[in-house]
Amino acid sequence: LIGWREFMRHVYRHAMPELETANQLEASHDLPEFYWSGETNMECVRQSVADVEQRGYSHHIQRLMVLANFATLWGVEPKQLNEWFNATYVDAYHWVTTPNVVEMGQYGDGVFASKPYVSSANYIDKMSDYCGDCHYYKTKDTGNKACPFNALYWDFLDRNEDQLRSNHRMGLMYSHVDNKQESGDMDEIRARVEDLREKERYGEL
Ligand code: SF4
Repeated sequence: LIGWREFMRHVYRHAMPELETANQLEASHDLPEFYWSGETNMECVRQSVADVEQRGYSHHIQRLMVLANFATLWGVEPKQLNEWFNATYVDAYHWVTTPNVVEMGQYGDGVFASKPYVSSANYIDKMSDYCGDCHYYKTKDTGNKACPFNALYWDFLDRNEDQLRSNHRMGLMYSHVDNKQESGDMDEIRARVEDLREKERYGEL
């Protein structure tokens, strides 16, 4: 019987140095500035970054399902998020963060993760109390104050369809993607994501 950190150690020894720059989804966006400043209207991200800034530490759910989740949905290059974790967490050792962030957080390589760990606002709301105080509406996909995680979640599945649709663990998600593509909702979601990227450029996300 081994623990998670021991498993990470083994993965690191097995998969480095390729793991450090692994990027099987070819994510190419830069890490948004608010990972450093905490200046965002997304309450879950704002509070998670504030916790890291104050204590150099945050809960597993904040790490995986807020900070890594957002970066994956946004399409951040995994190496950049790994560098951020290494620079900001007191418990960051390269051999721990690299498998956890690049592989589990961002599905960078496929060396052990069987699917990307991504979610919309629904899961974040189940696991935290952030959404009640948020500027954004957790139940909306599109529209000016719709939660960014929602449109980004569907857009992530849509734009990575060639790589992910055949994954048997993602069949249910792709049945929802099919519905959105057929109904035309996906066009609105793509437009919303363009709007979110514009807001991020101007520091308004
Ligand atoms: S509504 Fe969206 S952005 Fe706001 S706290 Fe919930 S998940 Fe985060």
